Amino acid sequence: MSELHKFIFDGLPVRGQLVRLTDAWQEVLRRRAANNQTGAYPPPVAEMLGEMTAAAVLMQGNIKFDGALVMQIFGDGPVKVAVAEVHNDLRLRATASVVGAVPPGMRLPGMVNAHGQGRCAITLDPQNRQEGQQPYQGVVPLSDEGGAPLLDLAAVVEHYMRQSEQLDTTLVLAADEQVAAGLLIQRLPVQGQDNLSQSSVAREDAAGEAAEDDYQRIAILAKSLKREELLGLDADTILRRLFWEENLLRFEPLVGTHGPRFACACSRERVAAMLKSLGQDEAHEILKEQGQIEVGCDFCGQQERFDAVDVGSLFTPAAQQSPQPGSVQ
Ligand SMILES: [Zn+2]
Repeated sequence: MSELHKFIFDGLPVRGQLVRLTDAWQEVLRRRAANNQTGAYPPPVAEMLGEMTAAAVLMQGNIKFDGALVMQIFGDGPVKVAVAEVHNDLRLRATASVVGAVPPGMRLPGMVNAHGQGRCAITLDPQNRQEGQQPYQGVVPLSDEGGAPLLDLAAVVEHYMRQSEQLDTTLVLAADEQVAAGLLIQRLPVQGQDNLSQSSVAREDAAGEAAEDDYQRIAILAKSLKREELLGLDADTILRRLFWEENLLRFEPLVGTHGPRFACACSRERVAAMLKSLGQDEAHEILKEQGQIEVGCDFCGQQERFDAVDVGSLFTPAAQQSPQPGSVQ
């Protein structure tokens, strides 16, 4: 079962989370493999998308926010877009669009940053977004400050957290066809840190240094976690092995209906709304060519079919009186 574990280091300004996605992640891959149009992901893409999904759960688990956290990578290589979306109740879904060959062993830069143009965007989309309200979005390149390409997704997320949240974060991520998992360690802002440049500098410097030491020690322990260990060991074993000398306070694990689980928010109404936004002429054009309009959901593979009668009713005034979809997501 997929699970999210949260913990703090007692007395230290450091917190952490460990996520293990099993059934939820396998469901993402199963649906993709069952899609006749796409087929299964090449293994490197599955790995990257799994790491994105684990990272998105960790980031969502880190904030108090009533809505969806969406991590997107816009690539300039064979992977055009990869998306992982996690709601605040930990419902999740993920998809990637692959437009070129991805040979075994290809890494993140080759897949999405072939020409240095790749971007990672994190969007916080409120649950009940008001008309015209823009969701918050932060974007970082897939290269560091010096322009060197970031080699894996953990480095991308660490870079993002430093840039946009100003929080020191250490991440270890791994995914294969069975498990997508991640460990996050984060340094909490020390109280009064914002005022460092003004007064009482000396005392806070000392506190800051101690906190820095604690964080660095724990971060180094976290980074010693190997990919195979993260994928193969259960959460209790991982946390005990890494942090047996630390005073860990653990919260009740989030599992089952409270834990990370696959769910897709797509619906026939949403597809209908999309067709309406295409416009009547375009819709009729497709109908003329194909006899019906068939739209598949990239996330879950669900197919919706609209025949001439369905399409006709979309563009009649009566249809406009029906409740407007759009608040489903
Ligand atoms: Zn769907």
